[in-house]
Amino acid sequence: TNFIRMMPKIELHAHLNGSLCTKSIEELCEELYGVNSNEKVLLSKELVFDGGNLDQCFLKFRFMHELTATKKGLQLATELAIRDFAKDNVIYLELRTTPKKNSEMSKEEYVKNVLEAIERTMKIESIHVSLLLSIDRSKSVAEAEETVNIALQLKNTYKDIISGIDFSGNPKLGNFMHFIPVLEKARKNDLKLALHCAEIHNPAEIDQMIKFGMERCGHGTFLSELQLNEIYRRNIAIECCLTSNVKCSTVKCYDDHHFKHIFNDKKAPVILCTDDCGVFDTTLSNEFVLAKNTFNLTKNDLLQLSLNAVEFAFVHEHFKHDLKQRIRHYFKIQTEPES
Ligand code: IMP
Repeated sequence: TNFIRMMPKIELHAHLNGSLCTKSIEELCEELYGVNSNEKVLLSKELVFDGGNLDQCFLKFRFMHELTATKKGLQLATELAIRDFAKDNVIYLELRTTPKKNSEMSKEEYVKNVLEAIERTMKIESIHVSLLLSIDRSKSVAEAEETVNIALQLKNTYKDIISGIDFSGNPKLGNFMHFIPVLEKARKNDLKLALHCAEIHNPAEIDQMIKFGMERCGHGTFLSELQLNEIYRRNIAIECCLTSNVKCSTVKCYDDHHFKHIFNDKKAPVILCTDDCGVFDTTLSNEFVLAKNTFNLTKNDLLQLSLNAVEFAFVHEHFKHDLKQRIRHYFKIQTEPES
């Protein structure tokens, strides 16, 4: 367990508003509401989701969205989320968030606030962070287009931070086909794509998504054998979120998780991720421990999983090389017998 906790880790699937642990939410409430924070702090326990279904889980985000509706709240939440990952020895983090407009900020200002907080926090914590902008599939195509336009516009200034587009939101809502032109525009302009795909049983949509293509598939729970083969052929990585899937009941229990089949049979590259570590009360270390214990993983398997994550990270080759060296070095010194 200590080996995993100290291990330099790569997190590629983390939604900003789901990634604050209870303690950080308390800190955020105290900072935002001062002496009147008690009521909110009590409510913060509400964010944690102990189990149920996907629809119930989506209701949980409302609480955090209230806290991040101001510049101060959003920037602090971003800082705290990054700090939590850094504490868990995550050395490279890909954070994703859905730009939101409210009375205080436009969508573009929302993204700028997150970017400012990322830049500031990277100077304090030893972690590198990049950002994916999320398209919420339950909203309109016009909103999705605005999100992609903001990403393209801000990529000029923040070219080392903005790396891609995530397609997420309640998988029971929205029609993927309607979003194809917008996603195509993103891809043509060098934004990488991470799509939530096969989160629920929806074979026709899964086929459409695989045909369209993506760099990484979020969840991949309901891929058929044929679809899995196609994912493998197209060299798409699958982001597996063990706790998230079991708590949302899309997977019955850890033993039954599709990770086992995909990783053991080497069908496609797998990456372990948290999804929403605050909502599901987990950490990336915890996900590794869970995977190790459930599927009897060896140290070599842990190394393979970490290297998979680097390989499919949305960063330049030279940075990938750096990250791989750091990870390999850790495994080497930790497994070398003392002289
Ligand atoms: P935000 O984008 O920073 O506000 O993070 C929370 C949002 O991420 C939610 O409102 C959803 O749209 C999305 N999200 C979080 N977890 C999941 C998931 O498991 N599946 C699909 N979308 C998700």
